[in-house]
Amino acid sequence: MTRQKTNRKNPLRVLVISAHPDDVDFGCAGTLARWVKEGAEIVYAICTSGEKGTDDPSMTNEKLARTREKEQRAAAKVIGSREVIFLRKTDGELQYSLEFRGELVRVIRKFRPDILFTHDPANRAFDNQYLFHADHRVVGELAFDAAYPAALNHNFFPGHLAEGLTPHAVSEMYFFAAAQPNTWVDIESTLNQKIKALSCHTSQIKDPKLMGEFVRTWFGAWGKEKGLAYAERFRRLQIFRDPAQRLRQLKKSLG
Ligand SMILES: [Zn+2]
Repeated sequence: MTRQKTNRKNPLRVLVISAHPDDVDFGCAGTLARWVKEGAEIVYAICTSGEKGTDDPSMTNEKLARTREKEQRAAAKVIGSREVIFLRKTDGELQYSLEFRGELVRVIRKFRPDILFTHDPANRAFDNQYLFHADHRVVGELAFDAAYPAALNHNFFPGHLAEGLTPHAVSEMYFFAAAQPNTWVDIESTLNQKIKALSCHTSQIKDPKLMGEFVRTWFGAWGKEKGLAYAERFRRLQIFRDPAQRLRQLKKSLG
């Protein structure tokens, strides 16, 4: 069920593009921690520094941004991720633009991931206040459009070539918090690591005990769907370049 094609010599490369600090830890940190143990190299690109995430009027945007970046770097360490890149866009004000898409293409061409995790651009149910944050919708769409077809086609953002960045094909996308999941990853062995990573986001957590219970309840329910103790679930999408591979997949999907 999970992709385990990783080894020390040719490690699986995974990029996560998310809107805010802590999205990655809620979304997929349990899966990432498992893959790190199998040798994967993980990088996070976080579009904002989450500077609006406070109800304390005495907290400045600058101070909170610094705090949240520090928290996210600590959380990445817990999971074993290699690097956290902050694009430092304005929290809560993300807009779809060609320029922003180009920035994400640049990150993809630079890090060259096999797998890209992001928010699910197909989610439009508006049945959960956190899932349907405007920034999540924008980033999900942009990350997909950056991976396909822009990053793999030299005609998109040709100026990147002068920076030494050549086209790159992402093989698979994993959308987290998907309304129509098709992939469940067993995270029983890394649930405590996920909770520990989430607890690094101290500026966002008023009651760590309650957060732990919330995470166990949430991911326990997703695990139960597949007879597992705890699971993260995703909508996984393979991106084909080879027409023969595409035909095989079509035949498989038609049974
Ligand atoms: Zn978020």
